[in-house]
Amino acid sequence: MQPEDLARFRARLLALKAALETEGPIKLDPNRTDDIGKRDDDHQPLNEMLQSIASSRNRNRTAELRRVKAALERIERDPEDYGLCLECEEPVHLRRLELMPAVELCVKCQSAQEESASGGRRKHLTDYS
Ligand SMILES: [Zn+2]
Repeated sequence: MQPEDLARFRARLLALKAALETEGPIKLDPNRTDDIGKRDDDHQPLNEMLQSIASSRNRNRTAELRRVKAALERIERDPEDYGLCLECEEPVHLRRLELMPAVELCVKCQSAQEESASGGRRKHLTDYS
C-alpha cells in the first residue's frame, strides 16, 4: 500500500475511533419511526423492532470499535500488515477499505465466515455499514 493511502486510512480510523468512543450507546427515540420507512397503527411491535435494531447497532458499534483499534495497532506495529486479509493474507480491495477502513477480511473470507456463522443464511455486507 502507498504511504499516502496508509496515512489517509490511519486518519480515518482515528476519526472513527474518536466518534465511536464519544457517541456512546445509541439512544432510542421512541417517537422516531421514520427509520423503518413504514408507519403502523399498532406501535408496540414497531417499538420492539426499533429496540432490537438499536441493541444490534450497539453491539455492532462495540465490535466496530474493537476492529478500529485493532487496525490502528496493526498500522503502528507493522504497516505492511494493514490492508491484508487476516484469513488468507491477500490484499483487501482498496475500495472495500475506503468503505470500511477497519475491515479485517476480504470479501471472500468474510462471506465464508458469515455463512458458517449464520448456518448458511447469507447476510449482505452492507448490513454492517
Ligand atoms: Zn481473505
